Amino acid sequence: MKIGIILGDQLSHSLPTLAQLNKQTDRLVMAELADEARYVKHHQQKLALIFSAMRHFAAELRSTGWQVDYHAFGEHGFHSFESLLETVCDGAEAVVVTHCGEYRLQQRIEHHWQKSAGVPVHCLEDSRFLCAADFFQRWASGKKQLRMEFFYREMRRHTGLLMEGDEPVGGQWNFDSSNRQPYKGKTPLPPVLAFDRDEIDRDVLALVSEEFADHIGTLDDFQWGTTSAQAQQALDHFIEHRLPHFGDYQDAMVTGEDTLFHSLLSPYINIGLLDPMVVCQAAEQAYFSGDAPLNAVEGFIRQIIGWREYVRGIYWLLMPDYAKENRLGNDRPLPSYYWTGETKMHCMAECFRNTLDHAYAHHIQRLMVTGNFALLLGVLPEAICQWYLEVYADAFDWVELPNTLGMVMHADGGYLGSKPYAASGSYINRMSDYCKHCQYNVKTASEPDSCPFNSLYWHFVHRHRQQFAGNHRMRMIYRNLERMEPAKVDAMLQRAERLLADPDAL
Ligand SMILES: Cc1cc2nc3c(=O)[nH]c(=O)nc-3n(C[C@H](O)[C@H](O)[C@H](O)COP(=O)(O)OP(=O)(O)OC[C@H]3O[C@@H](n4cnc5c(N)ncnc54)[C@H](O)[C@@H]3O)c2cc1C
Ligand code: SF4
Repeated sequence: MKIGIILGDQLSHSLPTLAQLNKQTDRLVMAELADEARYVKHHQQKLALIFSAMRHFAAELRSTGWQVDYHAFGEHGFHSFESLLETVCDGAEAVVVTHCGEYRLQQRIEHHWQKSAGVPVHCLEDSRFLCAADFFQRWASGKKQLRMEFFYREMRRHTGLLMEGDEPVGGQWNFDSSNRQPYKGKTPLPPVLAFDRDEIDRDVLALVSEEFADHIGTLDDFQWGTTSAQAQQALDHFIEHRLPHFGDYQDAMVTGEDTLFHSLLSPYINIGLLDPMVVCQAAEQAYFSGDAPLNAVEGFIRQIIGWREYVRGIYWLLMPDYAKENRLGNDRPLPSYYWTGETKMHCMAECFRNTLDHAYAHHIQRLMVTGNFALLLGVLPEAICQWYLEVYADAFDWVELPNTLGMVMHADGGYLGSKPYAASGSYINRMSDYCKHCQYNVKTASEPDSCPFNSLYWHFVHRHRQQFAGNHRMRMIYRNLERMEPAKVDAMLQRAERLLADPDAL
């Protein structure tokens, strides 16, 4: 008899572990473990989503004939996988597991599990991704610079998505120039999808509110689906109501509108309830049947077969040293409003509200508001990476780390972008209505009520002159800085210094 261990983000019927085992003779083991639930203080909704989805998945497996030993939180004496393995492997000939999504745990699987289990541990490659680790390594090897755009073209060829022979459908690989519009209210917003809660959900919500009350966020507005059927409903809903305008408003932000036309699918894809290829094929089909335009469909597919696979490739290529990178030498702590949401900066308060209430923020909120601000402040990468890992329902190390450390903090020297995504308040003003509702003035930089992003932006540019003045994509910015009146530059830098002395006061 073999034991198959199924992790909390491995809730797929196509999981290699299941393909390897035999329903009649082998057993599956799933467990809600304190060490995994508490090693960072995951948002309460993230824990509720994962525990409930695990319990539903275990029930689905049983209904298809699998023998599943499920250990619910608090109903067993083990805290870690090692203590679990010491107990459940009696009489087993081997343990089978699929490669996990986190370097920390993968190390334990490879170096400690066998000792605890007392039998061989077979770790299988995770075939649920579209790009195998060795494919990425081959693609990356020998290249001076790794660029997502070129990787993405390879992935289009590899998957055949939106391809006509060897050419991209529509004659272009990328339609981003048609995207990036602010939302002015002309296009009606999509309806909200709500799910009925069953007994499993209710039990888990009660458990999380009791055991994890000290973790960030609330459960009041828990809207995530917790079964593969609900995840499929979320996909159908996205394709019908959101995809047609996904491209146009991908970068837009609006007060009180937390999702706009975004898919909200990342948690389902990341924990295995949706297959990324199935998601992309559904979007592609919407284009071929005339239900969604090419700029939207291409933009969406690029996020999944491009960015999602690219960050995973970077993670496994460069870990563990990657996590320690800090090329800009940042060391500031994260201001307290990242946990409380209480700040006078309206853009930040909106993103924090969404984060605390839903364990969600869309990409531009993460990248250009909360992330951008941490970059401009010069926050220690480790601190901001831990925050992103804690607060989002879709956060798993392999995807969170490169996005935060690389894309947001530019701490890796540029694998995720050829220049930092630093921006002043004018970007936020262009893409949102936030500044209209803010106590700060986005048009000025050195007054007592000036938008903090403005002076901090120029402080960032100024203090990192050595690193970036030679970057051709930043040449214009440094030219603008040189052309400014020295007194104006001094006033901005002084204002930034005052803000940096007490960022908690903002
Ligand atoms: C600082 C920071 C941290 C992030 N942390 C995570 C994380 O922990 N987990 C996570 O899944 N995504 C992360 N992202 C990427 C992205 O913000 C989320 O995938 C997206 O906001 C999820 O919402 P959605 O499903 O509505 O996405 P949509 O905007 O609808 O995009 C569609 C899908 O594309 C994929 N995707 C889009 N952008 C990325 C990206 N940069 N990297 C990987 N996949 C992407 C996701 O699967 C997403 O569901 C992070 C981005 C930033 C800037
Ligand atoms: S003025 Fe500045 S702080 Fe206020 S919402 Fe605009 S960008 Fe944010």
